[in-house]
Amino acid sequence: MLIQGGTVVTEKGAARLDVRIVGESVAAIGRLSPEQGETVLDATGLFVLPGMLDVHVHIDDRIGECDLADTFATASEVAVRTGITTLAGFVTQGSDETLSEAVARCVARGIGRSHCDFTFHLTPTAWPWDWGEVEALVARGLSTFKVYTTYREAGLFTDYGRMAEVMARLVGLGARLLVHCEDDEMLASAGASRIDPTDPRGHAVLRPERAEVVAVGRVLEIAQRTGCQLHVVHVSTVEGATAIGEARRHCLVSCETAPHYLLLDETALAGDDGHRFLCTPPLRPAVTRAELDATAATGAFDLYATDHCAFTRADKDRHRDDVRDVPKGLAGIGAFVPLMFELLVKRHGLPLAELSTRLAANPARLLGLYPRKGTIVVGSDADLVILDPAGPERPVVSSLSDCYESFPGRTTTLDVRHVVVHGRPVVRDNALIPGARPGGLCLAGA
Ligand SMILES: [Zn+2]
Repeated sequence: MLIQGGTVVTEKGAARLDVRIVGESVAAIGRLSPEQGETVLDATGLFVLPGMLDVHVHIDDRIGECDLADTFATASEVAVRTGITTLAGFVTQGSDETLSEAVARCVARGIGRSHCDFTFHLTPTAWPWDWGEVEALVARGLSTFKVYTTYREAGLFTDYGRMAEVMARLVGLGARLLVHCEDDEMLASAGASRIDPTDPRGHAVLRPERAEVVAVGRVLEIAQRTGCQLHVVHVSTVEGATAIGEARRHCLVSCETAPHYLLLDETALAGDDGHRFLCTPPLRPAVTRAELDATAATGAFDLYATDHCAFTRADKDRHRDDVRDVPKGLAGIGAFVPLMFELLVKRHGLPLAELSTRLAANPARLLGLYPRKGTIVVGSDADLVILDPAGPERPVVSSLSDCYESFPGRTTTLDVRHVVVHGRPVVRDNALIPGARPGGLCLAGA
């Protein structure tokens, strides 16, 4: 197939180039003429970007007593329709299984059901970690591990001492540690504050900004000491982002934030359906949101990712009388690319290449998949998105599952004209091509 006449936009910039796909890969880039029998896709006036990656999604899993609203089928459909071609979820080891068994369990859910390629970050929960197993999984390409500085009751808590041990071992494997930063001791002391359990704003009182800032500081110090590659997920404070920025001089550190911290604030918690906007870390005050947005415009976040964690209306509403029991999380996959385009390109006036950098190249680097994913070079996977930034205005749709919209009233003019996954056209005009099969590959080796 030849994609002709478009403007190719990668993390390196934009240029008028044609792209030839042979099989599942990009075979040539340049001013190219169709070969005999070649299908030509006319991209005149359109932009050709690498397929984007959402590297922080919670799908097809159970959290606490609730099944998540999105499966691989629904999440990957809304993803691919908006230009996302790779998803990275989470494998959390259960108490009755090895880490490899947990990986197999999660991989099986995606095979034959996902329109996007997919992989996972791994959370071992048995201490000490089984390093033989970890080594074998890293060799399979699963090189990102995630730990939490909180969630003691869910069995996910890792103290700073153990984290230092883990980081010291991961260095030798060339693996990376993702950390959810909220200092557990600070949360415990905030937990003593009196809140009205029916007021969703109480959640923010229980999880103050300071808890994130303290944990970020501790974790950066460990990363510096051990030399481990660190990635801080869903940064929701300006102080946290600033500390990470300063630490770049002596640490291998990257970070992400999610669209809801840039676009929503705690006023969303005040309405009648405020409990539906509960997530962790919580939505912050308007002033923090504005500062975080300004910080994002300076390029402080290496990448963006949704932390998509959709619950059905029924699950979200069941415990609305006590904010501590409401399942925490927001849908966002389907709104991700359009909202980041509206924010970065249209509002902040950044070039379209910003999407290629922070929604494709840098996420692919995090996963160790660059340049196979995240860019357009000869030999990379033919995961391509063909966009018209000036389409008709439409509302964004975060999820196709039975959940409410996280970004009500938000619209986009980003028109996804074509999406190609592994050389296979999957989307045309923002919809799945009829009969498109969920042919996404598991990227976690065999
Ligand atoms: Zn998450």
